[in-house]
Amino acid sequence: MTAQIISGREIAAEIRAELAEQVRTLIDDAGVTPGLATVLVGADPASEMYVGMKNKAAAEMGIHSRQITLAADTAEAELLGVVAGLNADPGIHGILVQLPLPDHIDEGKVIEAIDPSKDVDGFHPVSVGRLATDSGDFFAPCTPAGVVEMLVRSGHDPAGKHVVIVGRSNIVGRPLASLLLRKGPGGNATVTVCHSRTKDLGAVTRTADILVVAMGRPEMVTADMVRPGTVVIDVGTNRVDAPGHDKGYRVCGDVLFDEVGEIAAAISPVPGGVGPMTITMLLANTVKSARLAAARRE
Ligand code: NAP
Repeated sequence: MTAQIISGREIAAEIRAELAEQVRTLIDDAGVTPGLATVLVGADPASEMYVGMKNKAAAEMGIHSRQITLAADTAEAELLGVVAGLNADPGIHGILVQLPLPDHIDEGKVIEAIDPSKDVDGFHPVSVGRLATDSGDFFAPCTPAGVVEMLVRSGHDPAGKHVVIVGRSNIVGRPLASLLLRKGPGGNATVTVCHSRTKDLGAVTRTADILVVAMGRPEMVTADMVRPGTVVIDVGTNRVDAPGHDKGYRVCGDVLFDEVGEIAAAISPVPGGVGPMTITMLLANTVKSARLAAARRE
């Protein structure tokens, strides 16, 4: 393997140490302990696992975390009432409603009920609009914000580079394009976004200085789709059957790591790449929200 490995695990640890310091300062100087509320509806094992990881990471950093677990048959109105209560609670600076929600609840309505000043997931239309127009205070969605941090902190500032993103979802591809287009740190890139209707995907990905893949297609990006010297960030997280493995499956990205790693300048692994960054950026947004709340109080 000749490529530099961009370790999300190491970069996340670096950011978490900085955040812990910022939390101490907020508590000592402003008397504010950042508070994160996570709301889980139903007992989906994957969602329970994510929420547990978020709460553990928050606690390790001195962030107060409150978990609210509601039954799967909770009425939409009751959930909206819980969100309203958290909006009004001065001890809570970030509200995360774990998605997906049960079918009888309108996800959009719940997201829009969150106070944008506590929207640490960055999915509220106000946050999305401010990001797209590069204006005002907003919270950037955690996964794309993590990708930008990985690039900048590993020495691959996207400014002036051609970044090709594969995937146009609202949680990864689109907000990442908006972040990279901003005039400011981590931005100023030239951006191309690809999707399933893109003709000759390889011809486009080969034009990238930086290639970010978020397709959800296991190991689909092969070496012939990547120009030697490209920086590759793999957002994909896929479980594929692996009868030889203890668990009967293995986790891989959207990029064929061993092959692409032979020609890329740098590459992020899966696991240990973008995954650890996502929770870290959620905590970063919560600390930022607490800092803004403390400033508003002064
Ligand atoms: P998604 O909503 O399913 O979007 C996938 C995107 O990839 C779509 O825009 C789709 O195009 C495009 N696509 C699919 N097949 C393609 C193909 N053959 N050629 C070109 N484009 C293709 O997925 P997502 O939520 O963005 O997630 C993408 C991956 O990232 C998943 O593996 C997910 O698990 C992972 N992920 C990881 C994290 C993390 O924290 N590590 C966070 C979020 C997501 P169309 O729009 O045309 O359908």
